Amino acid sequence: MSDLSKLCIHSITTKPWGLREAVGKYASAGVSGISVWQDAVAAQGEGHKATGDMIRDEGVDVACYVRGGFFTALGGADRQKAIDENKRIIDEAAVLGAPLVVLVCGATPGQSLFESRKQITEGISASLEHASAVGIKLGIEPLHPMYADSRSAVNTMTQANAICDEIGHANLGITVDVFHTWWDDRLEAEIKIAGQKNRIFSFHICDWKNLPEDMLNDRGLMGEGVIDVSGIRKWVREAGFSGYEEVEIFSNRYWAMDQDEYLAKIKEAYFEIK
Ligand code: ZN
Repeated sequence: MSDLSKLCIHSITTKPWGLREAVGKYASAGVSGISVWQDAVAAQGEGHKATGDMIRDEGVDVACYVRGGFFTALGGADRQKAIDENKRIIDEAAVLGAPLVVLVCGATPGQSLFESRKQITEGISASLEHASAVGIKLGIEPLHPMYADSRSAVNTMTQANAICDEIGHANLGITVDVFHTWWDDRLEAEIKIAGQKNRIFSFHICDWKNLPEDMLNDRGLMGEGVIDVSGIRKWVREAGFSGYEEVEIFSNRYWAMDQDEYLAKIKEAYFEIK
C-alpha cells in the first residue's frame, strides 16, 4: 500500500507549471516532497535560497536537486570543466537545501564505454570531497542502455555498484529508476547489494509503455506499461530504503493535458501500486 508520506514528484513531471505553482499544487494535494530541476529554479528567477525557502514554507520537502554529471569528454580540459560545473551544481543544491544531487554520468561518442566509465569514476572522485564538505550526497543514476550513446555509460546497477565500490565514499550512492533498470536480470541482486552497503539514495518511478512513441518523452504513469513497479519497490524497501518514491515522468502527452487532472491521475496511479 502507498500513503502520501513517501510521495515525491519531480518538477519536470508537471513541466507546464512554474515551480511556485507546482509546489502550491503539490502541497494542496498532500504530496510530501519535490525533486527540483535546475531549469525550474532558473525560470523561477529568485535564486536557490529563496526558492528553497518558498518550498519549505509550503510544507514540502526538497528531496533532490536534478541533475549533475556529464563527466565524459574527449579532452582533459573539457573533463575539468565538467568537474567545475558539478561543484557549482553541488553548491546550488546546498543553498537550495537539497540533500542529494542525482548524476546522469555522461557518455561521449568517439570513445568506448569503458573509457567513459573510467572518466566518470575520476570525475565523481574529484567532486566528492567538495560535496562532502557542503553536506551533499551524490547518486549515480544508471540509465537505460538506449542512452549509452551520449547520456550515460553507466547503464546497470552492477556498473553503478562497481563505481561505488571503487571510490568507496559514504556520500556516494545510487539512484534506482524503474524506467532505466526494469529489464535487468541482475536488478534484484544488485539492489540487495546496494542496500547492504547503505547506498540506495533515491528511487524514481514511472512506467515503460508497450512501444513508446518517443524514447525520451513518452513515459507512462505507474501501471500503464510493462514495469513491475510494485515488485521493484518491494525489493528496494526490503533492501532497507525508506525514502521518497519519486514520480519522474517526461511525457509530451501528459504535459499537453490539464495539469490539475494529471496530478489527480498521478496520485491515483501511486495509490494503485500494490
Ligand atoms: Zn530518474
